[in-house]
Amino acid sequence: MRHLISIADLERQDIERILERADSFAEVSGRSIKKVPVLRGRTVVNLFYESSTRTSSSFELAAKRLSADLLNVKTLGSAVDKGESLKDTVRTLSAYDPALVVIRSPWAGAAELVARWTPAAVVNAGDGKREHPTQALLDLYTLRQRVGALDGLKVWIVGDVLHSRVARSNVLAFGRMGCEVTVAGPPTLVPREIESLGCRVRASLDELADADVVYALRMQRERMEGAFVPSLREYAARYQIDGRRLRPHQILMHPGPVNRGVELSAEVIDSPQALIAQQVESGVVVRMAVLYELLASGGEEEATYGTGFTEEMPEPALAEVAGRPE
Ligand code: ASP
Repeated sequence: MRHLISIADLERQDIERILERADSFAEVSGRSIKKVPVLRGRTVVNLFYESSTRTSSSFELAAKRLSADLLNVKTLGSAVDKGESLKDTVRTLSAYDPALVVIRSPWAGAAELVARWTPAAVVNAGDGKREHPTQALLDLYTLRQRVGALDGLKVWIVGDVLHSRVARSNVLAFGRMGCEVTVAGPPTLVPREIESLGCRVRASLDELADADVVYALRMQRERMEGAFVPSLREYAARYQIDGRRLRPHQILMHPGPVNRGVELSAEVIDSPQALIAQQVESGVVVRMAVLYELLASGGEEEATYGTGFTEEMPEPALAEVAGRPE
C-alpha cells in the first residue's frame, strides 16, 4: 500500500492488519515514554486547508510518537486557490523530501491529486464531501474495542449524509467488516447514489430500534449552500438522537465536533453508551498504525518496532552526543 486515499483501497485483511497494529501501539501509549523509534529521521508533513482539531492533533501526536520529524502547514484563511496553488504548495513542500504528506482539503479529489504531485506517500485526512478514511478506521477500532467482532452488527448512520465524508468512508468500512449498514436522514440530505456503496436508505428513524450501533453525523452547516432542512429545530424534532430514541442496548458514536442539541441531545452525549471520547482517543494509535503501514511495514524498521526509546537508543546515541566536539 502506497497511499491511503479511500477505504475502497483497502481489503478486509488490510483493515484487520491496521487495527491489530493499532492495538500494539495502544500498548506503547500506555507506557510513560510513549515513543518508539520506527520513523526516526523520516519527515511527515501535515498540510491542512480546512480547520481541524482532532484529526490534525492526532496525526501530529502519531508522527511524534513514532519519532518522525513533523512539519505542520495550516493554510486556513490564506488566499490559496484550488488548482495551481495546491500544486505549487505540494511541490514546494516536496523539496524537503518528506516521506509522507497528510492532506486535508475542502476539495473532493485533492488527496489523489497530491499523490500525483509528490513522490511522498499520501494520506487523505478528509477531502471535501468525499472521504475521511482514517476516521472510519478509528471508528472500527473503537467499536471493536467495545463489542469484539463486528460481523453482522447493524449500524445506522444518521443525519447529514450528503455533506459527510465520514458517512461515505464509514459505509464502505463497516460494510467491509461484515456489518449491515443503513443510512437515515431527510431525503434532501441523503444522496441516492449512497446505496451503491452497499447500504439501505431510510427517510425516518421509525425502525431505529433495530440498530446495534447508532452513528450520528454532524449537520455540516458550512457545506450547505441552500436550505436543506426547514429549520434546525424541525430537523432535531425528527432526527435528533435523544434519550427517547436511543435504546439502552445501543451504542452511540459521532465523529465530532458535535452540535449539541441538534443531532444529539446532551443526555446521550454524556451517557455511558456514547463512545465519542473513546473515538478521539483511538485517533492517535490508529493514525500511528496508518503511518506505520505506509512507511515502515515490511522494512528493516520492523525489527526495532515495539522497543521503547529508553531501551533501544540510549548508549550509542548518548555516547555520540557526549563525544561530539562543541
Ligand atoms: N471531523 C469530521 C470531518 O472532518 C466530521 C465533521 O466535521 O463533521 O469530516
